[in-house]
Amino acid sequence: MGESRVAIVTGAARGIGAATAQRLAKDGHAVAVLDLDESSCADTVTRITKDGGHALAVGADVSDADAVNAAVERIAEVLGPPTILVNNAGVTRDNLLFRMTEADWDTVMGVHLRGSFLMTRAAQKHMVAAKWGRIVNLSSTSALGNRGQANYSTAKAGLQGFTRTLSVELGQFGITANAIAPGFIATEMTRATAERVGVSWEDFQQGAAAQIPVRRVGQPEDIANTVSFLTSEESGFVSGQVIYVSGGPGRR
Ligand code: NAP
Repeated sequence: MGESRVAIVTGAARGIGAATAQRLAKDGHAVAVLDLDESSCADTVTRITKDGGHALAVGADVSDADAVNAAVERIAEVLGPPTILVNNAGVTRDNLLFRMTEADWDTVMGVHLRGSFLMTRAAQKHMVAAKWGRIVNLSSTSALGNRGQANYSTAKAGLQGFTRTLSVELGQFGITANAIAPGFIATEMTRATAERVGVSWEDFQQGAAAQIPVRRVGQPEDIANTVSFLTSEESGFVSGQVIYVSGGPGRR
């Protein structure tokens, strides 16, 4: 096991964030499990603690600067200076462009882009002081373009540029920044999409799996495993990269 650090995972109440928080705790890190509502983090924290790990539930809206700054300071006080950050919190507001509202656009930009910016700005000073840091941003195969997701694909493509710039600015302080672009991962987010398009969850997953070269959909642990590598000591020469974790070379 590598050195024990303090990690923050946003949107960690469920799905990819919850699996990632559990994995980072298993890797030996103290984990701040951050989500909109502190009480929604209880399940993830309990699972980590039961496995002998160390976790703290933190409620904050990542798109709210004051809430983010207060949350990161509290984490630094309670767990120690955070040097691993996983910007995972996400929402979808899918609609074809002609039906997309300003609110659909602003909400998605607010959580993914503004949220990752605010979290990273607040956390980087602890990483710079420690001369070590790992930042992982959750992009998506939707960054390549996806019908009904003008807002989401723009935000996920934006996160790739954000990641590359972080790697350029922060590299000299021993900090790496990388993005993971998942394909279809079975979570509440994809389950909600199935519901919205009126297809049963089973059929929706089977349909997706048929298009994926490895012939299965992804699980949250597939992403958590990749985060584990990108936040390890050993990944220190990997920076500014976008890794598609999608069971194939790209889109799906
Ligand atoms: P999920 O199951 O919907 O979980 C997302 C979590 O983020 C929820 O707990 C949600 O809280 C939280 N969240 C939303 N807005 C927030 C905010 N403003 N501040 C703090 N937390 C907030 O999603 P997921 O499928 O695990 O996805 C995780 C990340 O991977 C997202 O960035 C997503 O875009 C990306 N991704 C997912 C897939 C996929 O196939 N699932 C593919 C590519 C990329 P509430 O429940 O309270 O809203």
